[in-house]
Amino acid sequence: MKETVVSGIRSTGKLHLGNYYGAVKNFVQMQNDYNCYFFIADLHSLTTHPTPADLHGNIRHVLVEYLASGIDPENSTIYIQSDVPEIAELYLYLNMNAYMGELERSTSFKDKVRANPDNVNAGLLTYPVLMAADILIHKATKVPVGKDQEQHLEMARTFGNRFNRLYNSEYFPEPYAFSYSDKLVKVPGLDGKGKMGKSEGEANAVYLSDDPETIRKKVMKAVSDGGPTEENQPKPEPIQNLFDLMKVVSSADTLAHFEELYNKMQIRYGDFKKQLAEDMIITTAPMRERILEIAKDDAYLRQVAKHGALKARESAQKTIKEVRSLIGFKSF
Ligand code: AMP
Repeated sequence: MKETVVSGIRSTGKLHLGNYYGAVKNFVQMQNDYNCYFFIADLHSLTTHPTPADLHGNIRHVLVEYLASGIDPENSTIYIQSDVPEIAELYLYLNMNAYMGELERSTSFKDKVRANPDNVNAGLLTYPVLMAADILIHKATKVPVGKDQEQHLEMARTFGNRFNRLYNSEYFPEPYAFSYSDKLVKVPGLDGKGKMGKSEGEANAVYLSDDPETIRKKVMKAVSDGGPTEENQPKPEPIQNLFDLMKVVSSADTLAHFEELYNKMQIRYGDFKKQLAEDMIITTAPMRERILEIAKDDAYLRQVAKHGALKARESAQKTIKEVRSLIGFKSF
């Protein structure tokens, strides 16, 4: 039997190159190799309190972009998280067995608290528990994610194992972060520091739906510096980030060419950025076309969401039934 893959994207905005290279890029191959569940994490997005209108629009965006990345709704299961209430039920059970200390120590929680000290809600604290429920509900063993999610996967294993021990079973298998290359990716942003992300500001991320002119403008404005002052100088973070971006979107020859220019102090950042922007445009163009096409088709989106919810619930209901029985719920 094929192993099960689960992958989710928060519906807090459009998909960017970080999402693409971190998680989405190999979906087409994955859906042939594994039993795949792809979902839009709209419950997770509630931690930031979107308005009802924004919530729906964002879910639609991600659904369209997921489909544009090549997911085949017949071959895999694509669904919206809130259409599967069994996930929320499993989250509740797992919460009984997740401890304040370990949740508070999670790096992403600490980052979020630092970024938004006025909105430290319980949903944010228990975010890794909901993520564990997302994965365990289908008893998945493989989760395609970027480097930023490694710690959450470890927590998902902890919560699954704890459940198993508490109920004296081997019910949940251990899920692991998965990438075909065995290395988890971290795509940097354009602002000179940290990763590309939906909450790091519009200019930091290149979106799959950005038109070529927008991509050129964003990349030309990316943070750089006055250039190297010595041969073979180590690269400061903003420059290293641009090279790391080139590594994901450009050919090995192009990268080597600009590395050599940098090392010889002959690099012109204008040319370097132009090349980077053009390679990003080549990567995103086919997806952008499909996004524009699929976004027009309301009937198709409705049918995909309905069909996906049915398939996802079938798997989730089976798990919840077994989990309830392990916990000891019995009907009178
Ligand atoms: P999010 O946008 O935070 O919901 O993340 C959805 C998926 O994209 C997760 O698998 C993340 O690991 C991945 N991801 C998000 N940002 C990046 C990034 N900058 N580099 C690599 N992977 C990322």
